[in-house]
Amino acid sequence: MTATRIDGKAFAATIRDRVAQHVTRLKEDHGITPGLAVVLVGEDPASQVYVRNKGKQTHEAGMQSFEHRLPDDTPEADLLALVETLNGDPAVHGILVQLPLPGHIDAEKVINTIDPAKDVDGFHILNVGLLGTGQKSMVPCTPLGCLMMLREHHGTLSGLEAVVIGRSNIVGKPMAQLLLGESCTVTVAHSRTRDLAETVRRADIVIAAVGRPEMVPGDWIKPGATVIDVGINRVPAPEKGEGKTRLVGDCDFESCAEVAGAITPVPGGVGPMTIACLLANTVTACCRAQGIAEPEGLTV
Ligand code: NAD
Repeated sequence: MTATRIDGKAFAATIRDRVAQHVTRLKEDHGITPGLAVVLVGEDPASQVYVRNKGKQTHEAGMQSFEHRLPDDTPEADLLALVETLNGDPAVHGILVQLPLPGHIDAEKVINTIDPAKDVDGFHILNVGLLGTGQKSMVPCTPLGCLMMLREHHGTLSGLEAVVIGRSNIVGKPMAQLLLGESCTVTVAHSRTRDLAETVRRADIVIAAVGRPEMVPGDWIKPGATVIDVGINRVPAPEKGEGKTRLVGDCDFESCAEVAGAITPVPGGVGPMTIACLLANTVTACCRAQGIAEPEGLTV
């Protein structure tokens, strides 16, 4: 391996420390405790793990955590009513509705019912529009975490060629907007891109957000490029024993690390940054709601 390993786990710990310091200051100087409400509908096992981790880390940062667990057959109207209640609750500064939602619920309707000022996932149509027009918004947590790591590693990103693989609303598109905001030259590649390998070979920065295990090989990577691997894929790991699995990213770590200048591992790269940025967004939302100066280094 020749690439620098970008340690998202360690960097996320520093973000969480910064968040905790701001929380202490908000409590001591203003008598306010930031609060994050997380709503989970149904029994999806992966979502349950995410929600548990979010609650734990929210507490550890000194914030209030409000968890709402609703059954799988919750009517859409009941979920919308809960969101409205949380919108009106002054102790709640951030609201996150865990996705995916059961099929009978219109996820867009739910997201767009969240008060945009409390939309710590940054998925509300207003925040999407603000980000797209370069205005102050709530920024989606995963792309925000990627950008923080890139800024930490590169300093300025101005003029760099960035290729984002994936055009989802939660990762690919907001990532592209953020990179444009940093004055990168941005290409968004996707499942219909004609020559993905050649497109990726141009990139000084590669963001892989596809959800296909190890699909990006090292010979797609320009020597010295920075590779941010967003993918989280569970694959069989017979070497660990029968029925065992392991996590891999969208990039083939070994071969990419031979060519790249820097690369994030999976696990331990983008994943930990995502929850740290959720906590950061909650503090940001709290400060904006109270008209208090926003902490530096916790958003863009
Ligand atoms: P998605 O399924 O919504 O989008 C995938 C995108 O990949 C699509 O835009 C599609 O066009 C593109 N794509 C599919 N096949 C392709 C191909 N062969 N070549 C090029 N592009 C292709 O997924 P998502 O929600 O954006 O998530 C992507 C990955 O990131 C998943 O593995 C997900 O688990 C992971 N993820 C990780 C975090 C984190 O915190 N680390 C957060 C969100 C998502």
